[in-house]
Amino acid sequence: MDNISRAGLSIQMESKMTSNNQVHSLNYVHRLDVNSLTAGEHILNFAVATNAIGQWQHLPVRVFKGETNGCRVMITAGVHGDEQNGIMTAMKVAQRLVDQKIAGCVTIVPMINLTGILHHSRDFIAVDPDTSSSNLNRYFPGSAEGNEVERYLHSLWNNLLLPNADLAIDLHTQTTGTCYPLYIFADYRIEQSKAMAQLMNADVILNDPGEKGVLETAWNTHHVPSITVEVGSGRYYEAELVERAADGVMNILKSKHVIAGTAEVTASPLEGTKTISIKAKQGGFIEPQVTMMQEVEEGELLAIQYDALGIELSRYYAPESGTVLSHNLETLRAPGSLVVRLIK
Ligand SMILES: [Zn+2]
Repeated sequence: MDNISRAGLSIQMESKMTSNNQVHSLNYVHRLDVNSLTAGEHILNFAVATNAIGQWQHLPVRVFKGETNGCRVMITAGVHGDEQNGIMTAMKVAQRLVDQKIAGCVTIVPMINLTGILHHSRDFIAVDPDTSSSNLNRYFPGSAEGNEVERYLHSLWNNLLLPNADLAIDLHTQTTGTCYPLYIFADYRIEQSKAMAQLMNADVILNDPGEKGVLETAWNTHHVPSITVEVGSGRYYEAELVERAADGVMNILKSKHVIAGTAEVTASPLEGTKTISIKAKQGGFIEPQVTMMQEVEEGELLAIQYDALGIELSRYYAPESGTVLSHNLETLRAPGSLVVRLIK
């Protein structure tokens, strides 16, 4: 890689500029420093790691670099490969930023988990027989000496994400087969994370200190205020939620004066500090008896479970009062699968 490093931007092949619209297209880079880029839009492929047959895996990246200095915002999606509303939200934000006057910089990395996205898989698909396919969002910021998953994240974190962000937004959805509203995770001990969560105009915010290995936690512990945004249900496209999530991200960009306009807090989301997950006691088909955002009392019926012949197996009741944050959409439920999640 030595022969290709130049002034913070390592370019494997010659960069070229399209003639008409000021989009600078860099074929691929091993390291990105947005501070060294010229103003305008840049489209590039970040060579994150080699695959098992020695070819580079490329993450598509779109950078909107301002004429003037300002906040550098990093927007990521696809950490879980089955969460397409997050990816679509990142795309919608990119589309809205074309021809906007930018101060600072917005970097969009919509396909973090390449192998997972290609397989409709939540997990990163490992090829090393000694490494299990893994939930990437438990291994940030990775490790240079670790397994296949940790090395992939180490390159991503050190060469693309961390050097280029003052604020970060990570876009997700609920896992395949289950639903969420527009729902934000934020650590309220960090003032800017709390402010970003409120600017999203979401349905629900969980004030949460974060978990080790989660991208949001890695950002926060490296002093880059961050939020995680859950844009509805796993796998399937929900246009209205995607538009609302894109509106929220644009609102954050306005609040940091990255784009022109007045940021507005127009929603009064339910703000919680605790979630309660009710899991399937056994396998079987589960019919939810509640709807999203429904308030339930302790002891209220949440779901009924049947075997393959329709014979009732089990009933699930609220262990305490709360609001329904998630329930199953796929009726087929293995033992331990999520039935209902409540928030308080
Ligand atoms: Zn996710």
